[in-house]
Amino acid sequence: MALDRRSFLLGTGLTALGLVGCAKKATPESSGATGGTTTAASIPADENPRSCRPSDSLQALKDGNARFAAAWEKKDSANTPQERAQVMSNLWLDNCFLPASVISEGQAPWATVLTCADSRLAPEWIFDAAPSDLFVIRSAGNTAFDDAIASMEFGVLALKTPLIMVMGHSACGAVKAAQGDELPTPLLTELVKPIRAAIQPGQDLETATKANASYAAKQLTARSEVIKDAVDNGKLQIVVGYFDIGSGKVTMV
Ligand SMILES: [Zn+2]
Repeated sequence: MALDRRSFLLGTGLTALGLVGCAKKATPESSGATGGTTTAASIPADENPRSCRPSDSLQALKDGNARFAAAWEKKDSANTPQERAQVMSNLWLDNCFLPASVISEGQAPWATVLTCADSRLAPEWIFDAAPSDLFVIRSAGNTAFDDAIASMEFGVLALKTPLIMVMGHSACGAVKAAQGDELPTPLLTELVKPIRAAIQPGQDLETATKANASYAAKQLTARSEVIKDAVDNGKLQIVVGYFDIGSGKVTMV
C-alpha cells in the first residue's frame, strides 16, 4: 500500500493501515496516565485511561525485567512443569491492562524493542509488559534491516514511541553463524552480512553479540533522518541491552 508522507503524517495513512487514533490519545496530556511505573494501581478507578504510558520508559523496562528475572530464577527451584508455570503466572500482576474497547481503537506502545527471533526471547515476558506496551521488531541477529528501520520510523512518527532498545542475547545463533564460514543459503549469507560488519575476528560470542547490537543501534540514526531528528530533539532515546537467558536479566550495554 503506497502512502505519501503528507497523508501518513496527517493520519489518513494510519486510517488506511487500521492504526488510527491511539498515538494522539497516548500522550500524557490526553491520557490521564499518572506516570511512574506501569502498575494497575496507577489507573484512576473513575477514568477510562487511553494509555498506560509510564513517565520513564527505560525505568519501566528495567522494573519489568527485574520482576521477570525474579520469577525466572524462582521457577527453577520448582520440580514440575506445572509448578514452574505457576511461578511464571505470577507475572503480569503489576501490569496495566487496558480494556479491549480502548486498545481496539489503536495502539500506544511506550517502548520499541528490536531483538532477535530466537525462541527463548519474548520481549513481553522479559519486560513483564502487557499487550499494547511494546512495539516489537524481530529477526535473527537483531540487525537494523530496512524494514526494521522503517517500522521504527512509523513508531516514532505515528506512535511517538519515546524509547528504542536494541537487544542482543546470550547464545545467539545468528551471531555465532556470522562468526563461522559458509552458510547454507544465499539469503542466510545476506542476513549475517551486517553482523559480520559489526564484529571483529577472535571476539568471544558475548562480546561479538554486544558489538552487533551496538552497531545496529548506531545504524538507526545513521540511516534514518526521522530517527536521528527525534534523538536530536530529545524525543527519542536509543539504548542497547543484552539479555542473559540463564539469569533472565537484561543488562545495559
Ligand atoms: Zn539470536
